Amino acid sequence: KNGTIIVGAGHAGVQAAASLREEGYDGPVVLIGEETELPYHKPPLSKTFIKDTQAKPQLLRGESFYAANNIDYRPGLHVADIDLAGRRLEFAGGAPMVFDRLILATGSRPRRLPIEGAGLAGVVSLRDVADARLIRELSGTCTDVVVLGGGFIGLEIAATLRAAGRNVTVVEAADRLLGRVVAPPIGAHVRQRLADLGVRILTGMTVSRLEDENGHVSAAVTSAGERLPAQLVIVGVGVVPNAELAGRAGIAISNGIRVDAQMRTSVPEVLSVGDVASYRHWFTGGDVRLESVQNATDQARLAARTIAGGSDAYAAVPWFWSDIGDMKLQMVGLTAGADSHLVVGEPQENRFCVYHFAGGRLVAIESVNRPADHMLGRKMLGAGFSPSRETVLQGADALKAALA
Ligand code: FAD
Repeated sequence: KNGTIIVGAGHAGVQAAASLREEGYDGPVVLIGEETELPYHKPPLSKTFIKDTQAKPQLLRGESFYAANNIDYRPGLHVADIDLAGRRLEFAGGAPMVFDRLILATGSRPRRLPIEGAGLAGVVSLRDVADARLIRELSGTCTDVVVLGGGFIGLEIAATLRAAGRNVTVVEAADRLLGRVVAPPIGAHVRQRLADLGVRILTGMTVSRLEDENGHVSAAVTSAGERLPAQLVIVGVGVVPNAELAGRAGIAISNGIRVDAQMRTSVPEVLSVGDVASYRHWFTGGDVRLESVQNATDQARLAARTIAGGSDAYAAVPWFWSDIGDMKLQMVGLTAGADSHLVVGEPQENRFCVYHFAGGRLVAIESVNRPADHMLGRKMLGAGFSPSRETVLQGADALKAALA
């Protein structure tokens, strides 16, 4: 028995290894990660880690977990190719490894900006702990920071570095912040709040080039010709799936590694989970590739069940969070296809929810500093329960009563 090899030791890969054992899988489990650290949580990197010089990565599982569960964790190894016919993984150096089952959990990487100066020192994207350490170090000594991209990671960093006293400018190409991920009322609220904190926000604007002094970035020049001083430039313009390894082997790709409802790729003994996997979403019927801890861990649990002989279809309710300054944003469900919304609560008090409906059915709730409403939303969507707009307006007690 050659067992199961998992490529990628992030949120999805580690959960897949753990879940295989929980499912009673007794074959060899090998977990390959190209980083040398023990697997760690990514979300704190853009939140607490960059402001606390003492912070260490928060481990996904304790050091003893791997040996205790008979998981053969191999750090610092990059899988170069998959030989499907021989069921082998190949490496630049060293012997190939043979598998019965393969789980590809290779995640995603920051999209690069094709502009002049993008390769200068002081220009950083945040994906792993090495990037976070670099941002922490550079931001400790600089005065001006430019953040390219008004998405979650860029705005989390912007709020954190502004609170630490840096001059921060966010440059976003679209006409609003968080445009791909939240509804306009939330994006507008975040914009106002960040502006109140003193973050300068330029929307409908791009950066055409970066200037340097002795090889280190010194300024970002906008499409309007403005020169923004910057000793640190954060590039947060989205990610691309690490799907090339699968693509080269002939596994079907479509905005990531294509998987079915049991997380199987076009090659049945190869499964894929997490940021790299794209699939037809059970909830909206549309094709998605979700980038969240929830998606990574729930898919990994299901992949382990599939390998252990299960046939359940993926049906987890998607949820996500982001901490931007004093705003805890939480999202549950998917807004794709929504045709109306209700705002409940007090945006002025920095506590409110946006309930989204599609044809009268509740499909998503986005909230700011309303964790109890978010949890209730997870229960409602998980139970397939859709309250009326009237019940939503009556508040949490009425919703709980209707759900019971
Ligand atoms: P990853 O965690 O990226 O793991 C993939 C691993 O595979 C990587 O370690 C990579 O090195 C390795 N790998 C790739 N190719 C190979 C290869 N050929 N050989 C060997 N190893 C390979 N999500 C939330 O829900 N809430 C948040 O607040 C939030 N904040 C975030 C903040 C930051 C800074 C980042 C970067 C992400 C954040 N996310 C957040 C997203 C979340 O972390 C990802 O969705 C999650 O990490 C996806 O897990 P994954 O295992 O699919 O990918």
